[in-house]
Amino acid sequence: MRCQLCGEVAVISMPQHRLKLCEEHFPAWVERRVARTIESFRMFSPDDRLLVAVSGGKDSLALWEILLRLGYQADGVYIHLGIDHEGYSDRSQSYAEAYAETHPEATLHVVNVRERYGRSVPELALEGGRKTCSRCGMIKRYLMNRMAREGDYAAIVTGHNLDDEAAQLLQNNLYWLRGYLQRQAPVLPQTHPGLARKAKPLCLVAERESAAYTLVRGIEYIQQECPHSVGATSIFHKHILNDLERRSPGTKLQFYQGFIRAREDGFLAGTDETPPLEECAQCGQPTSANALCAFCRMLETEEP
Ligand code: SF4
Ligand SMILES: [Zn+2]
Ligand SMILES: [Zn+2]
Repeated sequence: MRCQLCGEVAVISMPQHRLKLCEEHFPAWVERRVARTIESFRMFSPDDRLLVAVSGGKDSLALWEILLRLGYQADGVYIHLGIDHEGYSDRSQSYAEAYAETHPEATLHVVNVRERYGRSVPELALEGGRKTCSRCGMIKRYLMNRMAREGDYAAIVTGHNLDDEAAQLLQNNLYWLRGYLQRQAPVLPQTHPGLARKAKPLCLVAERESAAYTLVRGIEYIQQECPHSVGATSIFHKHILNDLERRSPGTKLQFYQGFIRAREDGFLAGTDETPPLEECAQCGQPTSANALCAFCRMLETEEP
């Protein structure tokens, strides 16, 4: 298998792009693709300070690397969730820190949920009788937004890749979750002065491309999945999409890009169900709830 640009040994074949590339041309291709995605969706500008949501996994570290290589001022935030099974949170933090140590131009902020709030995410979920992942999602969104606000960052960037977005889209379509469909976009603008803009610069990069990128660039990442992700519906949906992709290369990209184009053409116009936002009486963060935001309500009702 040979690189179509230089004839050297290719490290990856991407049938959906009818492209095979070598270890020099492949990472450069990924970086150009991300740069074009940022530009075409007007995600942020070269002067914006960015906050990368770093999990220690391949996608977030690949994203951080790409943004730094493209010349962006990108710091990271790692949220230690207190998931102790096989040392998951400690181990993923050490990968995030190891990456940051080799990139002195960037800062890694670490927020430890247990140290700051007295209980881990699984404990907070258990106390409130909630599913760990739904509690975890709310807590991460809250803490990231708070960090972006306090650190005066222009946008939060996350490592969601094409496979994540296509699986999310499949889920949203299966149940016609109009509110979720409305909010599924490569970039979500700031709808309140206290709510940071959010962007997904890897949304057109497939999971295997992101994994190959970290390998070629020599980035070490945690390969262990979060123990709470076992049996997740999103994984099942990814398998279905992978089957479709094998049978017909390019399906995921078509599915997602077709949706984004339809969305931009007004396909979802009039379906915005987002209630107006107010400021939480306790912490000042934007919330659609009366008086207290979900995070403050959780801390108030679930005392240790
Ligand atoms: S799988 Fe669930 S608990 Fe684990 S990081 Fe994701 S949302 Fe949090
Ligand atoms: Zn080449
Ligand atoms: Zn609050």
